Formats: sequence, structure tokens, C-alpha cells
Amino acid sequence: MPRARLLEWKTMSKFLSSKYGKLIPYTPGEQPKERKYNKLNTNESPFPPSAKAIAKAQEAAKKLELYCDPECKKLTEALAGLCGVDYNQILCTNGSDEILNFAFMAFCDSEHPALFPDITYGFYSVFAELNGVPYEEIPLRDDFTVNVEDYIGVNKTIFIANPNAPTGIALTLDEIERIVSSNPNNVVVIDEAYVDFGAESAIKLIPKYKNLLVTQTFSKSRSMAGARLGFGVGCAELISDLNMVKYSTNPYNVNSMTQAAGIGTLEDEEYTRKNCQSIIENREYTTDALKRLGFSLTESCANFIFVKHPRIGGGELYTKLRERGILVRHFTKQRIKDYNRITVGSREQMDDLIEAISEILEEN
Ligand code: PMP
Repeated sequence: MPRARLLEWKTMSKFLSSKYGKLIPYTPGEQPKERKYNKLNTNESPFPPSAKAIAKAQEAAKKLELYCDPECKKLTEALAGLCGVDYNQILCTNGSDEILNFAFMAFCDSEHPALFPDITYGFYSVFAELNGVPYEEIPLRDDFTVNVEDYIGVNKTIFIANPNAPTGIALTLDEIERIVSSNPNNVVVIDEAYVDFGAESAIKLIPKYKNLLVTQTFSKSRSMAGARLGFGVGCAELISDLNMVKYSTNPYNVNSMTQAAGIGTLEDEEYTRKNCQSIIENREYTTDALKRLGFSLTESCANFIFVKHPRIGGGELYTKLRERGILVRHFTKQRIKDYNRITVGSREQMDDLIEAISEILEEN
């Protein structure tokens, strides 16, 4: 936990509700301003947003005196087309973090505790704590794969990132279907933040299962992390439940510039596909180079790799890369403290990383 954050909490007021007394907020990846870094720590895209997205957002900026469309009608129509579902099967949100929180609010309670792997997106446990929801974390296997059997017929609300973060490992569609079909009385949320980089989407299962919610984001493959746009896809009833939560918290959750940028991006799917292809190529290129340098890596289907070296600890590699102007993500959790998660960026960014790592290993 960064010291600055700890100090912030110590100065909390006496008025804070006791229900948040023990809450430890999510720690976002650093966004430092003091110098220019090769930023490989938050899985952003190295490519700018689509020119169509920028043009549409600029146009929308001229109407900022008006509230945005709470229904996100045009964007929802475009997403329904992209996903091959009906209009009422989509909900747009302020990043996919928001729909994940809505899912914890709508589908978890003491009769429907949450269940997710021990090594996964760190926000799940924070959302569970925030909403006072009981939850259980199931250990991944030693090789960081999900043991599907652990999720069969468990009677809990399941959250699975596919591909998982920070490992990048993906389940197959058959494995996801086994989990969804064996838990008909609970919602299964498949968080597909990284699906465009090599996993198969579970959206195609939605017509078959009323208990499946798939969430996706424009933050990674669509270069819109700063605009905050995510969405969920599910049967109309699940989306209605989530809309009830949305209209009880923040009806105008997706601002008009973001809605416009999202529509522009969807009109430029070819650009998105081309960028994903570059990232996949750069991932394979970097994986090969790091293997040659002695690293072990999980098999990533995402826009990041998860790496460990036998001769240098995760924390030390993180610090030495930082000194050289390269930011990666190091987690202090015991099971993964030897690892670093490195975002796959442009070829230049990857060459810079490989060169820095080679130097660090030589010095060691
Ligand atoms: N799910 C996973 C697995 C993630 O890594 C992230 C990004 N931190 C998110 C969801 C949320 O991303 P966003 O809110 O930008 O859509």
C-alpha cells in the first residue's frame, strides 16, 4: 500500500459511516506526471482513439450545456448491432468498473454471496466490501489456471475475468458454458475487458442463458480509457435489474462526449481490429524476447504479459525499470510478488523495455 494513501486514510473525518471503517479502496495503477514514462502499467492502448471518435466528441462538446441522453440510445443501438442482440439487452456504463459495481449491487447479498478467484481483478473484492456482500476467493491452481470444477453448481454469484487479470490466461467457451449452465439460480458475470486480444467472447451464449452477464470496455482495444465507457450484455431481465440500479444512482452515467466518441469508434471497427492485431503481434514478439532472457510467462491472451525471472525479484525489477523511465505493474500479494504485469504497447515501447531488461539482468 503506498504510504501517501495510508496517510490519507488516517486523516478521515469522524463523520465517516462506520460501514466504511474497514474499506480499503482499490489502488489504480500510477499515472505519474513528474516525468515522461514508457507507460506499461495500466493496460492502456498505445494507439490514439479513432479519428471518427475524436471528431464526434468535438462536435458533442458544443452541446455540453445540455444533459446527455440517459438512455445512450444511439450508442446502445450500435452496440446491439455489434453484439447481435436486442436493444434492451445492452447497458452502457461509466467504464466497465461501473457495471461490475452495479452487478455486485444487483445480484449479490447474503443469499447470493460473490465468488471469484484469489488472483484476479483487484476491484472485485473492493466492490464486495463496499456493498457489504459476503464473498469467497477460490485459489487458482499453482500454474494460475482456473479449475473449472471449483465453480460447478456452487450457488453463488460468480465473477470471472476472461482473459483473467493479471495472468492473461483465458478459459474456453466450453468451460465458461459449463460454469454458467451449472449455476442456473445465480448470475455468472464474465468480465471481458481483454477479450479482443485473443479470447472467445461469451456473448454468443446469451440467447441460451438467462443468468449470464458479459461485460466489456472501450478502455483497452478501443483506445478510450480516458473517456470511461463500458457496457454489459445479458438477457433483457438482467439488464432491467441493472438499469434499476443505474437510475437509482446516476442516470446520466455516460457523458455526451463519451457517447459520441463511442459511436465514432464503433463506426471504425477496422481500426480497432488492426490495432488489436498489432498488439497480438507485439505480445508474441515480446514473449519470445523475454523467454530468451530467461523469463517464465503465463500464456497471455490479453494486452499484457505476466512475467517472472529466476534471478531478479518482482519488486526489484519494477524499481529498476522505473529508474529507467519504464513503468510496469507490480503487485505485493504474496502469491504473485515475484511477477510483474507488463502492458503490451507499440513495437518501439517493447524494444525499449527489452533493452532495459537486458541491461538490468547484465548488471545483476
Ligand atoms: N476488468 C478488468 C479485468 C480490468 O483489468 C479492468 C481495468 N482496470 C476493468 C475491468 C475496468 O476497466 P474500465 O473501467 O476502464 O472499463
